[in-house]
Amino acid sequence: MFFCAFFVLFIAFYPIYSTMTQNQAYPKHIVLFSGGKDSTCMLLMMIENNIRIDDIVFCDTGQEFPEVYRHIKHVQTYIGRKITVLKGEKPWQYWFAEHVKTKGKRKGQKGYGWPAWQCRWCVKVLKKEPLVKYLRSLPPCHLYSGITSDECHRANAKNVYPVPVAFPLIDWKITKNKSLRYCYEQGFDWNGLYQLFSRTGCFCCPLQKFSALETLFYFFPHLWRKMKKMDRLTHKTFKTRSTVSEIEHRIRTS
Ligand code: SF4
Repeated sequence: MFFCAFFVLFIAFYPIYSTMTQNQAYPKHIVLFSGGKDSTCMLLMMIENNIRIDDIVFCDTGQEFPEVYRHIKHVQTYIGRKITVLKGEKPWQYWFAEHVKTKGKRKGQKGYGWPAWQCRWCVKVLKKEPLVKYLRSLPPCHLYSGITSDECHRANAKNVYPVPVAFPLIDWKITKNKSLRYCYEQGFDWNGLYQLFSRTGCFCCPLQKFSALETLFYFFPHLWRKMKKMDRLTHKTFKTRSTVSEIEHRIRTS
């Protein structure tokens, strides 16, 4: 009887225990915070479970939805601590339209233009590089990433960071739906952003689906106008064969 009770308690609390044990093995514990629902849920649950957090870092591309920037401020106030904002050495605008290529077929051309699946320069120079540089400036540390249990295949991808990474939401069996529900319960609603989009990220991301672009066009006309202005600064089409204006035409006529 005693053994059974012990076993049930062990199964119930092992995920939290395992995350806390990992805590003790490393001097710095850093939460990767994107400003989206999953990393918000992870952060709040870690605080609720008294898991040590030394730093919370957000890599800013400069192109997030205004609702996400407001959310980050809201989270800071709610948890009563600052979130470290990391930025690339140069801003989005520079890499997008000004950086002069010094080699390859496009030598001399200005800017990388719109990102594509094969060329996500934005992730490299505005997210990964600033983060890796920051991590290398710290004593040994341990990262926490907000990948949910229904996306655990992403956690199996090769670790691109120079430090170990833990996935508490997978340990705790938190799915994408559960993470959003939890955030809503804590009073975070991104001003309705998740009622319109299934994911957040840069508003001007060309990798988003046509349906998300339609939503952007109808609900965020000021951001759409911004995107059209950006489109004039680059040689590269927004989608493989369409400019922003061509996509707009398609939206208007569909
Ligand atoms: S959301 Fe799109 S544009 Fe933004 S960093 Fe990711 S791939 Fe790049």
